[in-house]
Amino acid sequence: MSNVNSNPLVDKLIREELKALAPYESARRLFSMSSSDDIDGTGTLWLNANENPYSPDVSADPSLYNRYPDFQPEPLINAYAQYANVKPSQVLATRGADEGIELLIRTFCAPGQNIVICPPTYGMYAISAETANVNVLKAPLKQDMQLDVDMVLNQAQNAQIVFICSPNNPTGDLMSKTDLETVLDSLQNQAIVVADEAYIEFCYDANVTDLLAKYNNLVILRTLSKAFALAGLRCGFTLASSDIIDALKKVIAPYPIPAPVAQMATQALSQDGLAWMKDKVTELNQRRDSFIAKASQWALAETVYPSKTNFVLIKLNEQLDATSVMQTFVDAHILLRNQSKQLMLNNTIRVTIGSESEMNAVTELFNQINQNLTAGS
Ligand SMILES: *Cc1c(COP(=O)(O)O)cnc(C)c1O
Repeated sequence: MSNVNSNPLVDKLIREELKALAPYESARRLFSMSSSDDIDGTGTLWLNANENPYSPDVSADPSLYNRYPDFQPEPLINAYAQYANVKPSQVLATRGADEGIELLIRTFCAPGQNIVICPPTYGMYAISAETANVNVLKAPLKQDMQLDVDMVLNQAQNAQIVFICSPNNPTGDLMSKTDLETVLDSLQNQAIVVADEAYIEFCYDANVTDLLAKYNNLVILRTLSKAFALAGLRCGFTLASSDIIDALKKVIAPYPIPAPVAQMATQALSQDGLAWMKDKVTELNQRRDSFIAKASQWALAETVYPSKTNFVLIKLNEQLDATSVMQTFVDAHILLRNQSKQLMLNNTIRVTIGSESEMNAVTELFNQINQNLTAGS
């Protein structure tokens, strides 16, 4: 399946279950920055990875890099705990939320055990499980893109962890909190339920940290990569009861957070940093809503999915093909994300909400495609 290895030793020694495994097709692997034009307004528009188009003003102090960083830098942990309204003992800082996913699986699932995912959803749960030789059980979302609670509970009878992404990537909407509570309640003393809140800043009132006091099997994943606009920093947080956090600390690397990352992340969580983030969230949410309003008028869109995030999923009119629409955008140096391989999402494209000029360019091209479609029919 993977490329033939020129070194036969790799083929001989690599774990059997990794041979057939394709690495996660991250947005950045599909289109690498170094192979493209400049990434400012004149070159390629990067609307394929749900990044923030803006950059916060954070910087690191170049002294002291000769020392190892703290295991869990206190100013960072305290700042996040205060922001999230939890105790510092309930916070683990990780290399992005992705490391939180991996740690949870490595800590709570032995090879051959199981996790539950609810597709269509974020791809890294399955990748992290597969690389740890952990099986992935699926409880697909219902047609309305909400949890199939009975199916989740049924699959979870054999699982250690259930991953629930809310708001869900790539569909964009929140999962019902009532459903989440039903799952948490039914699986008390049985399985960990992970609420991935990577996009929660775009609808912060819907966060579920209040449930941490009620359910000791709840874990919440957070990141600075999306609303905080620091994807390049690789900083995320796992929130849970201190018992769960302590278990994860047995598995995490000894120096997971580089000192400059801790410094810059702490600045992003300062009063000024939070005000900057909230300002951008307001701006991006408004731009998203006006993009959705426009997209809903287009004949090219069979469905424009509701979104509480910085991205919008569009199911194309069946006369169009997602691969060729993607190519039309690539030719115009606009990178979107084809989600058509996901369960229930054939012929869909995900658009990250960018700057005003970026969205003007996207809208203009969609307008043209729409005109061609309506003229041709
Ligand atoms: C982007 C994303 C992540 C990963 O965030 P990092 O902190 O950059 O690792 C996790 N979950 C979801 C749903 C995401 O979209």
